[in-house]
Amino acid sequence: MGHGWEGVVLKLMRGKDFACTVTGAEQVTDRYRRVHLTDGGMLRATGVHPTMWVRLWFENAGKPHQRAYTLVDPDPVAGTFSLEFALHEGCASDWARRARPGDTIEATVQGTGFTVPDPLPSRLFVIGDPASLPAVNSLLDAMPGTPATIWFETPHESDAGLPVRARADHHELRRVPRRDAGAHLAEEVRAALPGLLGDDPAKAFFWIACDAATTRTLTSRIRKELAVPKERVNALGYWRTV
Ligand SMILES: Cc1cc2nc3c(=O)[nH]c(=O)nc-3n(C[C@H](O)[C@H](O)[C@H](O)COP(=O)(O)OP(=O)(O)OC[C@H]3O[C@@H](n4cnc5c(N)ncnc54)[C@H](O)[C@@H]3O)c2cc1C
Repeated sequence: MGHGWEGVVLKLMRGKDFACTVTGAEQVTDRYRRVHLTDGGMLRATGVHPTMWVRLWFENAGKPHQRAYTLVDPDPVAGTFSLEFALHEGCASDWARRARPGDTIEATVQGTGFTVPDPLPSRLFVIGDPASLPAVNSLLDAMPGTPATIWFETPHESDAGLPVRARADHHELRRVPRRDAGAHLAEEVRAALPGLLGDDPAKAFFWIACDAATTRTLTSRIRKELAVPKERVNALGYWRTV
């Protein structure tokens, strides 16, 4: 499949293309599906880092569409990784619902990048949802000893069963039902943070990946109302409500 103008731009920006092949798939809940793949040499060529994501090319009505997805447990030696899809309408979700062994998908590696803060933060505040669950889990794995509070927004009842890799002893997981297009989550975080943050906001680290509008609201409050320095906040909207 040609990638159209988006592909040309990514190529000019030195994006690298790889063909990945499905080896299996599991339905985790009625709205969440895990797909296993081989990487076509991608991980050895690019290396891996926490929360790493790729641009995958999905076809819809004969046209290519690129969508960002996070690598789950990437293994450069075995040349394998998995993807986890929060299922909704859309060409990426449709592809995941149908994915069977032998199916192929093209990936472009361009734009991803995250380095674990050094020195490690005294506390991690993570705010995510099913679309960012793979990245949340990757982040928690990358900083296993750091105390963390995780707010996990659950749009559907079955999301309560999604596997957040929180460690019982020093990770506090707060599942928050999605209400009012994310406003309820933003309010829960805002109400709880002053009591959790301690007296030096610069020692904490925030990682925020919800829908774009909620991510913006949270980021702005955390920066302006709680005076958290810019470099202690990593925020990216993972999807848009249309
Ligand atoms: C860096 C990065 C990494 C990401 N990693 C993952 C990942 O590992 N797993 C994952 O599931 N998603 C991930 N996402 C989000 C994913 O790229 C988007 O949800 C994308 O829009 C899905 O494409 P689609 O073709 O299925 O739907 P689209 O064609 O984009 O949208 C179709 C409809 O579905 C709605 N929609 C889109 N996404 C969601 C959602 N998450 N929840 C509810 N409704 C939605 C839209 O508003 C629209 O109405 C990531 C996003 C980013 C930026």
